[in-house]
Amino acid sequence: MSSVLGKVNAFDMAQHQLDVVAQRLGLDASIHERLRYPRRSLSISIPVTMDDGKVRVFQGYRVHHNLFRGPAKGGIRYQEDVSLDEVSALAMWMTWKCALMEIPFGGAKGGVVCTPRDMSVGELERMTRRMTSELMIIIGPNKDIPAPDMNTNAQTMAWIMDTYSMNVGHSVPSVVTGKPLALGGSKGREDATGRGCVFVVLELLKRTNRSIDGLRVAIQGFGNVGGAAARLIQQAGAMVVAVSDCRGGIYQSNGLDIQAVIDHVKEAGQVSGFAQAGPVTNDELLELDCDVLIPAALGNQITSENAARIRANIVAEGANGPTTPEADRILQERGVVVIPDVLANAGGVTVSYFEWV
Ligand code: NAD
Repeated sequence: MSSVLGKVNAFDMAQHQLDVVAQRLGLDASIHERLRYPRRSLSISIPVTMDDGKVRVFQGYRVHHNLFRGPAKGGIRYQEDVSLDEVSALAMWMTWKCALMEIPFGGAKGGVVCTPRDMSVGELERMTRRMTSELMIIIGPNKDIPAPDMNTNAQTMAWIMDTYSMNVGHSVPSVVTGKPLALGGSKGREDATGRGCVFVVLELLKRTNRSIDGLRVAIQGFGNVGGAAARLIQQAGAMVVAVSDCRGGIYQSNGLDIQAVIDHVKEAGQVSGFAQAGPVTNDELLELDCDVLIPAALGNQITSENAARIRANIVAEGANGPTTPEADRILQERGVVVIPDVLANAGGVTVSYFEWV
């Protein structure tokens, strides 16, 4: 696997992980070879009339990795640097995640190359609706069911459901999960991924005879997953010493008041500037003195460059693919327990399954 500053191509990483597991399992060579590649990938261009009247074309992808266990399932992310390789890796990880949870879904993922924070609500709505029209040939309640991921949410799912329903002429709530409650969404879906992440940390502590009380936790990312994980792990008795978002992080060695941080983010739009804490960069946050590290933002964060400096002894992967294979090896040698993404963030797809049913 080639790497630049320890960062690894996501699809190379996913294939490498499969190769290692296939060898460990003694997996049939033909099945292994089939699983190394997505079943199908759709590349779309999405023309959108922007607020200034000009048309911009956004690039999008939807990948089905595997459909043996049921319809394809996976989120759609809006991200400025999302690529077909990244979406393909994420689709493969969804196959493993659904299988691990014994959910009868296959693996899929989608992405659109855009910068949502620079777009108006109207632009996002028009882009989402046109994307859905282009995806009509591949999605459907028994074929492929999208869900929220980075920079997409219940509102995005409502637009997808409405556009799909308009195209087929009747309402089809089961074409997406993570919808608003009023449209058939499931209570608890918004917190589900963060909650699942906290559940697996608590279970690990129980099995290793450790207490949650006063445990020091650092969390990268304060969105759907990181925000819920921070709130719920604090409620469970842990001390959240640091959180961050794309603009930077905050640190308080005596523990942050997470509800106060949430209130601050509602006003300021970012965690930085929270009065009762000092600043920390995203890179520094990963290496803080803490017991549990929850990367809950991007992939490729714990790499061969920084793995030796991670001080947490539990890493719970809220994000997908935050740890490169080389970093995994270094952490394992150092006795750091990594709870892998396919387990640590599987709460979302589990609740999505019940919503779909
Ligand atoms: P989100 O858009 O709600 O939040 C993402 C957070 O990460 C935001 O706080 C954002 O500011 C921060 N962020 C973005 N770029 C960053 C950077 N360069 N450095 C630090 N922080 C940065 O997204 P989410 O739904 O919480 O997803 C986060 C991760 O969890 C992703 O890897 C996603 O694939 C994974 N995941 C999400 C779900 C789900 O149900 N939403 C389920 C499973 C896995």
